[in-house]
Amino acid sequence: MMKDVRLLTDRIISGYIPDGEELEFILNVPDEDVTYLTRKAVEARMAVYGKEVFIRGLIEISNYCKNDCLYCGIRRSNCNADRYRLTKEDILECCKEGYEAGFRTFVMQGGEDGHFNDDRLADIVSTVKEKYPDCAVTLSVGERSFESYKMLFDAGADRYLLRHETATDEHYAKLHPSILTLENRIRCLYDLKSIGYQTGCGFMVGSPYQTYENIVEDLRFIKEFKPEMVGIGPFIPHKDTPFKNFPSGSVTHTLRLLSIVRLIHPKVLLPATTALGTAKKGGRENGILAGANVIMPNLSPVSVRKKYMLYNDKLTTDEEAAENLNMLKKSMEEIGYFITANRGDFKK
Ligand code: SAM
Repeated sequence: MMKDVRLLTDRIISGYIPDGEELEFILNVPDEDVTYLTRKAVEARMAVYGKEVFIRGLIEISNYCKNDCLYCGIRRSNCNADRYRLTKEDILECCKEGYEAGFRTFVMQGGEDGHFNDDRLADIVSTVKEKYPDCAVTLSVGERSFESYKMLFDAGADRYLLRHETATDEHYAKLHPSILTLENRIRCLYDLKSIGYQTGCGFMVGSPYQTYENIVEDLRFIKEFKPEMVGIGPFIPHKDTPFKNFPSGSVTHTLRLLSIVRLIHPKVLLPATTALGTAKKGGRENGILAGANVIMPNLSPVSVRKKYMLYNDKLTTDEEAAENLNMLKKSMEEIGYFITANRGDFKK
């Protein structure tokens, strides 16, 4: 086992994935000892994407979900969740506002809600693409069949976010009911990629029962799968879930993992997530400074934002909201970055 962050960083750059002990070491050394790792991650991002930060307008289309993931605030068993779903008109209105504000990617995310069957969702996707042909549409609506993914792609969807959550079967089984399997999640990811989507996987940092070895497996999966996007954010408990008493994941670990992922896969589109901004004030700026290059402000109608509560105290105000884009622009400029109004596709 190597106990030198500099040497480990250089080895990661040359393709090595640290083992569990090495990862534990990197994630827990004092901040001043990881400046080399951070610097190398920022250099890697600079070489591909420069100082541009891409913005995605997040539209939370439904908080109905047929699944019962133990960590998630919109799980089926949460009777306290105040359920809603947006209409096609609501979604088009969000896109209109977002387009005027400068967004060129719309991310439609939601629970696995049977209402959004292939016909309805394909119709919404194709209408958005007709109205805004210069925009990318990203979907994040969970596990579906190959045929369903294909139909949505043919309707115009460009990208799909589906975090793998954890790349270890035993850990997956501790986070999900037995009907949900890692095997199917991975099948979905490979289907998406083979169809031609820019595909995003990812995981929560500090989810219950997660070990350093589990994270090593996540990193190995990312290296092998080569996703166009990776979503990493800290786990944050939700008061109405079985995991309500588990602690939040570490912001420090999340930031260092963002740097490591950037080095493993330099071209990846890497968001500084809402969960990171929720866990720590300025968390998203720190994420950008650690190697991230995407931010996803919320375009959902204000009336439903508080209902899409995946975890306690999810940010719904301030820079998180798309209407405060100017604040976000300013906060990025203050750290030496700038927000652009282009689609921000993966660079091949
Ligand atoms: N249903 C879709 C899916 O399964 O991909 C998209 C919605 S799902 C709520 C989006 C992501 O939220 C999940 O992939 C999960 O990683 C994250 N999430 C859910 N509960 C969370 C929590 N308590 N803390 C942090 N992230 C959470």
